[in-house]
Amino acid sequence: EAADECPPDGEALGRGTWAFLHSAAAYYPATPSPIQRESMLALLRALPHVYPCAPCAESLGEELEREARAGRSHEGGPALADAVHDGPSLRRWLCGVHNEVNERLGKKKVPCTEEVLQARWRDGPPDGRCDA
Ligand code: FAD
Repeated sequence: EAADECPPDGEALGRGTWAFLHSAAAYYPATPSPIQRESMLALLRALPHVYPCAPCAESLGEELEREARAGRSHEGGPALADAVHDGPSLRRWLCGVHNEVNERLGKKKVPCTEEVLQARWRDGPPDGRCDA
């Protein structure tokens, strides 16, 4: 891995971006305020326009357009506009989008359950090995 003073390569950029997005989703409330819903929707819809990896941004934009047309996500769950309604729906949606990228890159998919996602991005594993 390159030193901290070097610009991030595609892998480091991806890891950092996923960490931010999944963490934001992990703390997204069960009942978000209207401003939280609007802001999360705007944040995720902005990514295809500003994510600094052109082919990644393009694939994500196509995915968002596809699901907006279908009114359902890749996995058959709610599309983004509905998924921002509550924390569990948003987390499942984001996990599905990440899995779609994983699939394209030949990486392992993650089970999109609350248990798995909240252990990974908010609570840490039950054995406490991540506790400070
Ligand atoms: P990452 O995929 O970065 O994942 C980081 C951690 O997230 C994993 O270690 C795991 O613990 C956890 N995780 C994995 N899957 C899930 C999931 N479904 N839900 C929740 N947590 C999960 N790279 C390309 O080469 N081509 C692309 O088109 C491309 N598009 C991208 C689009 C976006 C929006 C982003 C943010 C990144 C994209 N990337 C793309 C980068 C790519 O997804 C990876 O981030 C990068 O390859 C580093 O992979 P990694 O194996 O370290 O784990």
